[in-house]
Amino acid sequence: MIDLELSDEQRLIAQTARDFVDNEVVPRARDSDRAQRFDAALARRLGELGYLGAPVAEEYGGRGLDYIGYGLIVEEVGRGDSAMRTVVSVQTSLVCGSIERWGSEEQRQRWLPRLCAGEAFGCFGLTEPDTGSDAAALRTRAEKIDGGWRISGQKMWISLGNVAEVALIFAQTDPGLKHRGLACFLVPTDSAGFATQEIHGKLGLRASDTAEISLEAVEVGDDALLGEVGDGFKVAMSALDSGRYSVAAGCVGICEGCVQASVAYAKERKQFGVPLASFQLVQEMIAEMIVRRDAARMLVRRAGFLRDANQRSTAETSIAKLYATESAVECANLAIQVHGGSGYVDDYPVERYLRDARVTTLYEGTSQIQKLIIARDATGIDAMAPPQ
Ligand SMILES: Cc1cc2nc3c(=O)[nH]c(=O)nc-3n(C[C@H](O)[C@H](O)[C@H](O)COP(=O)(O)OP(=O)(O)OC[C@H]3O[C@@H](n4cnc5c(N)ncnc54)[C@H](O)[C@@H]3O)c2cc1C
Repeated sequence: MIDLELSDEQRLIAQTARDFVDNEVVPRARDSDRAQRFDAALARRLGELGYLGAPVAEEYGGRGLDYIGYGLIVEEVGRGDSAMRTVVSVQTSLVCGSIERWGSEEQRQRWLPRLCAGEAFGCFGLTEPDTGSDAAALRTRAEKIDGGWRISGQKMWISLGNVAEVALIFAQTDPGLKHRGLACFLVPTDSAGFATQEIHGKLGLRASDTAEISLEAVEVGDDALLGEVGDGFKVAMSALDSGRYSVAAGCVGICEGCVQASVAYAKERKQFGVPLASFQLVQEMIAEMIVRRDAARMLVRRAGFLRDANQRSTAETSIAKLYATESAVECANLAIQVHGGSGYVDDYPVERYLRDARVTTLYEGTSQIQKLIIARDATGIDAMAPPQ
């Protein structure tokens, strides 16, 4: 049975994160968004507080928290600023989680303590210009050379790519083997032939670093291989399972922020001689946001509970990701409506919530891909790749 009660420790984790976000994240979010500036100092501060490796074992510099506790932290950071929440999700779930699960002892010791502490950033290079949802078809090529590998290819839309010290690069070792030929490499970003370019002009997540990466005959040693040759697809899928949970938790935070901002505004602003909150049509919008927030939070809690109990949770995580991300978009849209014209400018956080929420239904698997995972689990039929 799922226990929805939080423990005293989990309550304390949430409260501490809430205070930090209110004091240090919220006051900087609008300016960073306006300036389209990645706030590296604040991102490092997340590490100092133990928010960049919360579920990683303490022996590797993490806090050894359970997934419910991790989700509570991500929810708070997501309420404050999705650009910072992206740092938490990528660094913790995609990068640290993969190294902890698939890495050798030497790889864990080399990278995890510094990544968890925020002394270094890592990025996750799966998507390419020509392969997004169909990640198994990626074209980056890894060729075996004496003592290591030579990697060539392009990666697209990579969060933290311009600031990372290490990049998880997914590459094909044998095109004939399709997804069974994929491998993942820990590539130091100062390697010869590794270059990045910033991507600008994003609708939202403007304060998040996003990169295009090019690898031209980058040479790494055998010790850069994460897991075995052929494990690449499994590494990516296990990372995305954790990343989707993290994105979903962050979106609960957006829903919460929308409710808080809308309730406060509707009680303060008057029209027709009474507060907006007196109008049933405004209350209806607030009620819709609250129902979505609560349902999303429960779905995230269920996915976290299953994970903590070491039970299969891929479908439940996709359900949480699909519902929470779509709800964040919906709540932000409603919150702007409650705010009227004031919701259309950045004096209030709601327009940023909408712009930032929009990408969450795209990355770490689009909403369509989540639906295909959920229905595949129910039917046993994979409708992802139609016959050609
Ligand atoms: C700001 C940002 C940050 C990102 N960060 C990272 C990162 O750190 N690392 C990384 O590797 N990637 C990252 N991504 C990439 C992201 O994961 C991809 O954009 C996403 O997986 C979708 O791929 P695509 O953009 O190629 O869309 P496509 O796969 O081309 O999809 C386009 C449309 O077709 C639909 N579609 C595709 N296939 C199917 C199907 N089988 N059935 C039904 N519909 C389908 C999709 O749902 C979508 O609506 C990021 C993207 C953005 C925008």
